[in-house]
Amino acid sequence: MTPSDLAFDREHIWHPYTSMSKPLPVYPVVAAQGTTLILADGRELVDGMSSWWAAIHGYNHPRLNQAMNAQIAQMSHVMFGGMTHPSAVALCRKLVTMTPEGLECVFLADSGSVAVEVSMKMALQYWQARGERRQRFLTLRNGYHGDTFAAMSVCDPQNSMHSLYQGYLPSHLFATAPTSRFAGQWQEEDIDDFAGLIRQHANELAAVILEPIVQGAGGMRFYHPGYLQRVRELCDRHNVLLIADEIATGFGRTGTLFACEHAGISPDIMCVGKALTGGTMTLSATLTTREVANIISNGEAGCFMHGPTFMGNPLACAVASESLAILQENHWQQQVAAMETQLRSALLPLQEKELVADIRVLGAIGVVESRLPVNMARLQAFFVERGVWIRPFGKLIYLMPPYVIQPEALTRLTDAIAEAVEQPALFLS
Ligand code: PLP
Repeated sequence: MTPSDLAFDREHIWHPYTSMSKPLPVYPVVAAQGTTLILADGRELVDGMSSWWAAIHGYNHPRLNQAMNAQIAQMSHVMFGGMTHPSAVALCRKLVTMTPEGLECVFLADSGSVAVEVSMKMALQYWQARGERRQRFLTLRNGYHGDTFAAMSVCDPQNSMHSLYQGYLPSHLFATAPTSRFAGQWQEEDIDDFAGLIRQHANELAAVILEPIVQGAGGMRFYHPGYLQRVRELCDRHNVLLIADEIATGFGRTGTLFACEHAGISPDIMCVGKALTGGTMTLSATLTTREVANIISNGEAGCFMHGPTFMGNPLACAVASESLAILQENHWQQQVAAMETQLRSALLPLQEKELVADIRVLGAIGVVESRLPVNMARLQAFFVERGVWIRPFGKLIYLMPPYVIQPEALTRLTDAIAEAVEQPALFLS
């Protein structure tokens, strides 16, 4: 990439959550291999992010490439309305087998946010078909479900975009976020606020929507499985649907294939995305029980009212199916467990550092929460100079590397963080 390419990028191209008038620097990347990102100037960075939870098998994976090449030779895309194809069927068979019990019907969509929109529309249509007017959702503070409008309306009202779109977003209900830590003592009063809200509003609630066990972009918080168990019980008692947003947690990241498994529960509707295609193509899925699907289908519309142009894109389905085949060979369990052990021994000692507020590790996720917000541009440059790709936000410096990372490469990531938390100049005061 030439300097003029970078100038064009700065002048004309939006990046996620950045300004067009004062953009933060972007680093030109020209190739990626395994767990290494290669910059235009030849520098190699160890990837600590899996491209936002997606590239679980590493980059340029020969089997994923082969699956895409084979599909391109057949057809890259064909409409899904009135047609089907082998890659969609193979993928959905695997999804139905791998996901928690009872989830049998699959809606394929384009991205995580769209899967969340689909899940919320499904809940609305479900109650409409049952002749009840239920149009509100109950969710948790500190949650994150995506950037489209319905998804945004159930993101944390404080640390998201609610204030910007006030008056336009529907008003949903927010329970206090759980405080019982994942491996800590379960505090029964943790569920009180949620229990009160569901009791009081049950007959206007279409569904509860939450991220099971790990609240990701809303704070990287890991909560106790007891909370999720109580939520399932309360949804059953008050006859409210439960939507589990497994877009970030799905496919092994937390140490179980799906985070719901930590609590031994099944949701009525589940969203998956991100790692579904091993980080190669954009694809998501919303799964429901047969009961939910039947009730929607027997309603006034006689169908579910959603059908995007690229629904069931064969190229994305083919590579997703291969990514799931790799997971089904079960090496991920050992890889994630080994990563958890190493992350614990490297990160937990940082708890004593003055700049560190908290350390949390679960599965292949390591989080260092600082006392002060990071100086994004400086810290990013600091990490790149040390040959690692770590993208912090707010007070959170976190790792979620590809499952195939080698111990030495993981050490480079954790060493860079250990060095960073000794340097007040990398944080805002
Ligand atoms: N839900 C959760 C839990 C997420 O973490 C994200 C993305 O970070 C989304 C939904 C939105 O997914 P996408 O960015 O693919 O639209």
